Amino acid sequence: MSRQLQARRTAWLEFTQLAADHRAVNLGQGFPDFSPPTFIQEALREALSGGYQMHQYTRVFGHPPLVRILAKFFGRIVGREIDPFEDVLVTAGAYQALFCAFQALIEEGDEVILVEPFFDCYQPMVELAGGKTVHVSLRPVEGSGVPSSGDWVLSPEELASKFNPRTKAIVINTPNNPLGKVYKTEELQVIADLCVRHDVLCISDEVYEWLTYDGNKHVKIASLPGMWERTVTIGSAGKTFSATGWKLGWAISSVHNMKNLKIIHLGSVYQCPTATQEAVARGFEREYELFGTPESYFQQLPAMLHQKREKLASCLGAAGLQPVMPEGGYFMIADISSVKVDLSDQSTEDEPKDFTFVKWLTKEKGLATMPVSTFYSPEHRREFSQYVRFCFVKEDSTLNAAEDILRKWSQTQ
Ligand code: PMP
Ligand code: GLN
Repeated sequence: MSRQLQARRTAWLEFTQLAADHRAVNLGQGFPDFSPPTFIQEALREALSGGYQMHQYTRVFGHPPLVRILAKFFGRIVGREIDPFEDVLVTAGAYQALFCAFQALIEEGDEVILVEPFFDCYQPMVELAGGKTVHVSLRPVEGSGVPSSGDWVLSPEELASKFNPRTKAIVINTPNNPLGKVYKTEELQVIADLCVRHDVLCISDEVYEWLTYDGNKHVKIASLPGMWERTVTIGSAGKTFSATGWKLGWAISSVHNMKNLKIIHLGSVYQCPTATQEAVARGFEREYELFGTPESYFQQLPAMLHQKREKLASCLGAAGLQPVMPEGGYFMIADISSVKVDLSDQSTEDEPKDFTFVKWLTKEKGLATMPVSTFYSPEHRREFSQYVRFCFVKEDSTLNAAEDILRKWSQTQ
């Protein structure tokens, strides 16, 4: 490797292994422990028996039926014509779309603003491209009712102070992992105005775009005036159709941004599997027809997850963990400040409290979660180490098992 990369703590490997070693009830890593909908499974089965072409290479930048329907689907949402063969790139998950975007658009010494908490791969990916990350945190303001991810906001002044002539891009993630925040149009407008004023790109990670609750609406920053030309919008078939193991995603942007992303894709993955692309295309074609109707999976999935969110929130509350109600996404964070556990035996020097708590909960109680401080830059990690993240995209039986563990534990507190 030509670049010296700092040795990093890889929370995912560590905590996923810990959960497996202790056969813990796993509310840690974000994936559904239920099957994808029947229509998408059938689409894959049909694709697999659809002749030799389905087992051979397809177009390098995306299987034609998939790029066509992605362009049509998202063109309707952003209110503009999207060119399927110029503006869309199919990638190995949203992860590779992020990687291509950073490698393609960031040059040595460029600054990239990350909004904390952020999906933790952003920082190493920016650094691998030679960029420097600059951090700005969402902070909770006093709300009147139940704590909600909507209480977590950016200070417009602090955000503005991070933009300078070296700033190349800002990365946003809505709905946010791990917080569940769904940015409102006014909040996106503040970011968009700064991007336009400073000629800065926006990399918008929207993998949880269909998952919003309580009437919150996902808004694409690319649809705001002046933003189409400067936004790379990233999506995930894994999150869209509850099939995270398919590892298929996409980047959508205007041609001039896309040219370089395609070069990185060519030089790394080259192209994605044909049959899964065909199946995802069929899934989107179905959803295009059913959009906005009760039969649409994009209506049914959030309705199902809404119930799971309520269930998890009530059992966390009963165990003395204060949940922050997510407006969207797969996850709920909870405040562990008031739990009465002596962690002194478990703690390693310099370890944030949430890391120690998550290890204790997995080993001693058999419940796996994720520490929220892993979604912060090293300089802000301690400040936000009183939260842990729970994934609620799980079978009711898994959530019941977690509830049992939390109930028994709260009786002994
Ligand atoms: N962005 C966010 C915010 C995520 O939580 C994830 C995790 N799945 C990804 C990107 C990567 O998505 P994929 O599995 O499609 O690579
Ligand atoms: N996005 C998922 C999560 O946040 C998976 C992360 C991963 O596998 N690195 O849990």
